[in-house]
Amino acid sequence: MSAITIGIAGAGLLGRLLAWQLARDGHRVSVFDPARGPQPAYDSVQAAAFTAAGMLSPLAELDNSSAEVALLGWRSLALWPRIVGAMPSPPHFRADGSLLLAHRSDLATAQRVLSRLAGALPGTPQAQPVSLAQLGELEPALQGASHAWLLPKEGQIDPVGAMRSLHGDAAGVSWNWHRCVRAVQQGALLFEDGAQQHFDLVFDVRGTGSRPELPVRGVRGETVWLHAPGHGLTRPVRLLHPRHRIYLVPRPGDIVLVGASEIESEDRSAVSLRSAVELMAAAHSVMPALAEARIQRLDANLRPALPDNEPRIDVVAGRVRINGLFRHGWLIAPALVEDALRMCGLSAAQPAEEPEHERG
Ligand SMILES: Cc1cc2nc3c(=O)[nH]c(=O)nc-3n(C[C@H](O)[C@H](O)[C@H](O)COP(=O)(O)OP(=O)(O)OC[C@H]3O[C@@H](n4cnc5c(N)ncnc54)[C@H](O)[C@@H]3O)c2cc1C
Repeated sequence: MSAITIGIAGAGLLGRLLAWQLARDGHRVSVFDPARGPQPAYDSVQAAAFTAAGMLSPLAELDNSSAEVALLGWRSLALWPRIVGAMPSPPHFRADGSLLLAHRSDLATAQRVLSRLAGALPGTPQAQPVSLAQLGELEPALQGASHAWLLPKEGQIDPVGAMRSLHGDAAGVSWNWHRCVRAVQQGALLFEDGAQQHFDLVFDVRGTGSRPELPVRGVRGETVWLHAPGHGLTRPVRLLHPRHRIYLVPRPGDIVLVGASEIESEDRSAVSLRSAVELMAAAHSVMPALAEARIQRLDANLRPALPDNEPRIDVVAGRVRINGLFRHGWLIAPALVEDALRMCGLSAAQPAEEPEHERG
């Protein structure tokens, strides 16, 4: 297809991924966002993408999302290595499984969760029980849990590194900061100051900023960044907990990220004492070496969710809206972008080849 002009409202996860892909395809891309610049500010207002843990967990997410989301996730897990591999400065990405842990008292909860996961999506990887001896070999830093399972082929990406690379490697894109888009019309962006700019095609990927055009809401999530030199953890870990979906994610720079609360509130204030204490106590209960970690950052943000908690792509002439990535944006964004570009005729690509485990 010949080059066209494209306006993108929102420089979060979807905005950057779209800009990166469309610029590579030779289009003239302009991105608009009210943020002060491309770097993370950790101010609870900018893109949720910066706050995310970056877990890529299609199997575990089946506990609270649809089979469609899980399928988008498995497709995206096949796309991420190609995206990351094409970047001169690639972010940290791994897909060699994650672990699910439970304390003795939470075994019944664990079994209920595992029975929901088992067979929910035939032909995809299933949870495998792991003995404590095997756990010690896989992840020596984990001690204190009574039960463990390996979730094969799940992965992780470093969201802050990926946001930097998608911005820095998107050659030729015009990035416009301090620009708040008030309305996204067919072929035009209307700005807060009353100005209007026309494009062949516009994308509305403003996350929670897409109201009132979309019935999107924000779901609060809180995380803790722990600086723990030599922590040794290599895989993302989930811990079954009666109140939170707790996970520990190793990050570059000796960081273990602990997340996340999930609260039906649009409160953008700082992390509460209760969440911080519960997240850190749970993390310490399975990784005792974290006792000497230093608390580097407490972060909170809103996940953009539609009423059914499912992602949605709306295409009309001159305009595409993508929203509702909720708690799994990093998991599903590459497949959603691939689908959206195909739906508006910008890509002839067929969906990513199914991973080997999905073939009959
Ligand atoms: C605590 C937490 C943990 C998470 N953990 C994970 C995880 O482990 N795995 C996973 O897959 N996902 C996770 N997520 C979810 C993921 O971050 C989101 O699904 C994803 O960021 C949504 O992408 P988006 O581009 O739609 O929105 P965002 O990333 O929020 O980007 C929206 C952008 O639009 C801009 N904008 C807003 N209003 C306007 C306007 N009027 N004009 C122009 N631009 C505007 C914003 O400034 C922002 O840059 C987590 C989220 C949170 C909060």
